[in-house]
Amino acid sequence: MNLCDYNTLKKILSKHGFTFSKALGQNFLVNPEVCPAMAESLNADDKTGVIEIGPGVGVLTRELCLRAGRVVAIELDKRLIPILGETLDEFDNVEVLNDDVMKLNLHQLIEEKFSSCNSVKICANLPYYITSPIIMMLLESRLPIDEIVVMVQKEAGERLCAEVGTREAGAVTAAVNYYADSEILFDVGRESFMPSPKVDSVVIRLAIRKENKYKVSNEKRLFTVVKCAFSQRRKTAANSISNTMGVSKDRIFEVFDSLGIDRNIRAEKLTMNDFISIAEEL
Ligand code: SAM
Repeated sequence: MNLCDYNTLKKILSKHGFTFSKALGQNFLVNPEVCPAMAESLNADDKTGVIEIGPGVGVLTRELCLRAGRVVAIELDKRLIPILGETLDEFDNVEVLNDDVMKLNLHQLIEEKFSSCNSVKICANLPYYITSPIIMMLLESRLPIDEIVVMVQKEAGERLCAEVGTREAGAVTAAVNYYADSEILFDVGRESFMPSPKVDSVVIRLAIRKENKYKVSNEKRLFTVVKCAFSQRRKTAANSISNTMGVSKDRIFEVFDSLGIDRNIRAEKLTMNDFISIAEEL
């Protein structure tokens, strides 16, 4: 079954009376090269478990089933469940869950579904409206996973994979950098989707580190400082942290001065080590 074939896809969708939901970020891949390339980049084998977020009609899911030992696909839209029943019918190594990935206990899911696997990976063409929250949730919950290979909007991908301390960086950049090594794998043009979105995409890989790269006594405080520093991008980091964390400006200046950090610096110029030192001092 070729789900990238326009007529095949249209036939299945209309048979089930399916209409796209913009609110759920439903842009389905129709470029036949993208899903095999994404699935291939996982280097999966029959001992690999893969969680897919938002399988849609199953175009990527099928490629994952061909390469991995076991696939669990989590789809929020219940209208897609009977379609997936049809498009994945030939595979016996896949399970589809009708659920919201943000509400599932993924630790429990991994324990229950992937006990026979040597490694677990996440692969998805992420719904754009919720890209950063999903990635933050996956990283912050410290799941026993090796890597995350996902398609995101180009601008989001550039931010996620930027270096902390550069113009492209945001709060999410620091979080990614804290937990993982990131890279952009390849570009995907907007014409690769049905319906076609207004922006291009990229596929990125986040390789989760087994060992901590940074020494931090309180992760929660670190990420509060990072989020507060970036929350008012037009202001200096000191102003932004002071306004949103409720710490006096004098105290922030005292910390910045003791660390040799310019009082007027903006959040995008702060390095990971700067953020860590500020969080430790505050
Ligand atoms: N994987 C398919 C593809 O590449 O053609 C569909 C990708 S589409 C960009 C995103 C999918 O995520 C949609 O099927 C949408 O219904 C689903 N989705 C949206 N929010 C979700 C959530 N919170 N949990 C699980 N799935 C979600």
